[in-house]
Amino acid sequence: MRENASASDLLAWYDANARVLPWRISPSDRAAGVRPDPYAVWLSEVMLQQTTVAAVKAYFTRFMLLWPTVEALAAAQDEDVMAEWAGLGYYARARNLLKCAREVSAMGGFPDTREGLQKLPGIGPYTSAAISAIAYDHAETVLDGNVERVMARLNAVLEPLPDSKETLRTHAASLTPQNRAGDYAQAVMDLGATVCTPRSPTCGLCPWRAACMAQAQSIAETLPRKTPKKPKPTRLGIAYIGRRADGAWLMERRPDKGLLGGMLGWPGAAWGEARIAAPPLEADWQALNEEARHTFTHFHLCLDVHIADLPQDTQVSGLIFVEKHAFKPTSLPTVMRKAFDLAHGAFNQG
Ligand code: SF4
Repeated sequence: MRENASASDLLAWYDANARVLPWRISPSDRAAGVRPDPYAVWLSEVMLQQTTVAAVKAYFTRFMLLWPTVEALAAAQDEDVMAEWAGLGYYARARNLLKCAREVSAMGGFPDTREGLQKLPGIGPYTSAAISAIAYDHAETVLDGNVERVMARLNAVLEPLPDSKETLRTHAASLTPQNRAGDYAQAVMDLGATVCTPRSPTCGLCPWRAACMAQAQSIAETLPRKTPKKPKPTRLGIAYIGRRADGAWLMERRPDKGLLGGMLGWPGAAWGEARIAAPPLEADWQALNEEARHTFTHFHLCLDVHIADLPQDTQVSGLIFVEKHAFKPTSLPTVMRKAFDLAHGAFNQG
């Protein structure tokens, strides 16, 4: 007869196999009474929304160094935080991060319940459950992509995502323990990330192998099924990259609302079905042969890059010159950085 999956089997596996992550309290430290810092848990969970663990590690460490408490982050300059966030993508997260830090700082600390957390900017159902479980050990069910995959396999759920989400949540909830809920939440995520991987799960190492229906039916790799997504459209645009005689760069601060909101970028980025952006000023603009390509959540973007040397006395209303010493390519959103990399090579050749 098949065994039932149990939280205790998974927790025993986690005690021996937990990933070491900069924001994590190890199971042995946790057992010894070390409590997680809710600020670190929140910061890591917001960074991990839509972003991989590997990409988040360095950003998390840097943020904790610069702003070690929620009060410190609340007091930070918006531009400094946006610049440090550059490259992580989904910039609305960084704006909400600041708003949330300021609210929490004014409240005197993070709420500990899912309901309380979910009222804060940038914290949805997943993140509130994760913080409540990981930081406060509340028995919340945490359902991310890793957990969905594990639950779909463990229970051989053939219905495709996203329709199967509630079924998967019910399965996940039935396993969530009252004790060690925080370790358990992290344990399921670790199992999905390291053993029950999308391709080639290593079922031989899995603590739930004897209970797993997909493994018994040899269909693990085919799950979870997913309803095919519509292909992404391609949008076109132009990035005008102007360099003043003293080396300063002509840039725009993008409006707070919308894609790449609040970030610095190159003028001319009205993206659509045709490249229609007019240059920000008259100059000897040269089109480069290569375009900067980037894929956002809902579309691919191809940016033509035009460059020009601008006279020292150039002024353009609504735009800013970023002085050579203050310009940091790493502070740009990835697509603007790609355009800059092309332009920089061309300026250097010119
Ligand atoms: Fe995933 Fe295999 Fe474990 Fe089933 S036995 S949960 S498919 S790793």
